[in-house]
Amino acid sequence: MHRYDLISCHDCGVLYRKRPLRPREKARCIRCRSVLYRGSSADLNKVVALTLGAAFVFLIAQFFPIVELDINGLTSSATLLGSIRVLWSEQMQVVATMVFLFTMLFPAIELGSLLYVALGLRMKVRVPGFNRVLRAVQTAREWGMTEVLMIGILITVVKMTSLATVVPQPGLFAFGALTVMLAIVVSFDPKTLWNVGDDLLRASLPGLRYKPLAPGAKVLPCHACGLVAPPVGKGHHLECARCGTPLHTRKPNSISRTWALLIAAAILYIPANLLPVMVTHSLFGAQDDTIMSGVALFWNSGSKGLAIIIFIASVVVPMLKLGTLALLAWTAQRRSRWRPRQRTVLYRMVEFIGRWSMLDIFVVTLTVALVRFKSLAVITAGPGALAFGAVVVLTMLASMQFDPRLIWDPVDDKTRNDAEKNKLAIGEQHV
Ligand SMILES: [Zn+2]
Ligand SMILES: [Zn+2]
Repeated sequence: MHRYDLISCHDCGVLYRKRPLRPREKARCIRCRSVLYRGSSADLNKVVALTLGAAFVFLIAQFFPIVELDINGLTSSATLLGSIRVLWSEQMQVVATMVFLFTMLFPAIELGSLLYVALGLRMKVRVPGFNRVLRAVQTAREWGMTEVLMIGILITVVKMTSLATVVPQPGLFAFGALTVMLAIVVSFDPKTLWNVGDDLLRASLPGLRYKPLAPGAKVLPCHACGLVAPPVGKGHHLECARCGTPLHTRKPNSISRTWALLIAAAILYIPANLLPVMVTHSLFGAQDDTIMSGVALFWNSGSKGLAIIIFIASVVVPMLKLGTLALLAWTAQRRSRWRPRQRTVLYRMVEFIGRWSMLDIFVVTLTVALVRFKSLAVITAGPGALAFGAVVVLTMLASMQFDPRLIWDPVDDKTRNDAEKNKLAIGEQHV
């Protein structure tokens, strides 16, 4: 048995033996129903071609103007980088940095690193820094928000049509294409590349890396590369034998860290909603807009659909995230055995929707860059945008700190106790 024949459920920790899947097939955990792995072909040519294409479109999207506004002959256009620069020059350096990281740097790292590793593997080379670069792909993927930006662009376009003539520019189409291409790139699991890299090693060092797993060996799953094997290192400093990620049976201090981040986010949620996210300076003076007044503006101007989207992304989602994470942290702390499967589903939902709250920040970024008609109107970002961005980042960090396996630990302990009481053997090994 190869070590990568085993897989540990990310959400509840049950150990499974993998079997090959057909393309587009999914293997789900029987206990918590989360997706364990997908049937994806390790067709390196396809990965390289797709990533190369996406990288090319990425460059067009980043450096060409996205839209142009035209008010009676006065024009203004915005590129993504230009918009970030405007924010930066207006004392919104933190927000500018966030937008830069989520829409430029992380997607660039994801595409660049994936291309580097996959190209190497295609030439039968395990490139220098293989482990670190491949881990960077996964981190960058968690924080890249191209699809959210794309919706933000569309909302900005609709918003602007009431003010001026909007002329779509190459950047807009490039972002549309990039969103689709990235969705396909993301469907490819980088863990497959670790296995391909191992096959190369195995060919050069026969018999060295792949001792069969001894029965009863103490294993720790690595959720970065997917290996389930005995860890290397001593005491509390255990590492994955393959990719070097620090390993723990459970994320250290998971619950207290989740609480700390949650409380900080809850406090900032107040100024995020009360302070203006945008300030409009026009001939009629300055007008402050909070998130809610922005929603009301859309609603009253007839764009009810947009009002609902922004309301859900900026008000409902953060509140839902705060409430759900608090519930998860509290029940895990009390070692509750209440509805573990439903709580796992809630956790997956929080992880999935987390990034969508950045939507309004992206709309503000583009609006600020577009509406710069000195004689008519200038829009700047307000301090609410900073508080709001911080709430999004803090809740994302909180959900990453929470270890969903803590939901299942009390359930496992009870099963184990009951089994001991009834002198029954436990069929599965829980890690
Ligand atoms: Zn599971
Ligand atoms: Zn690993």
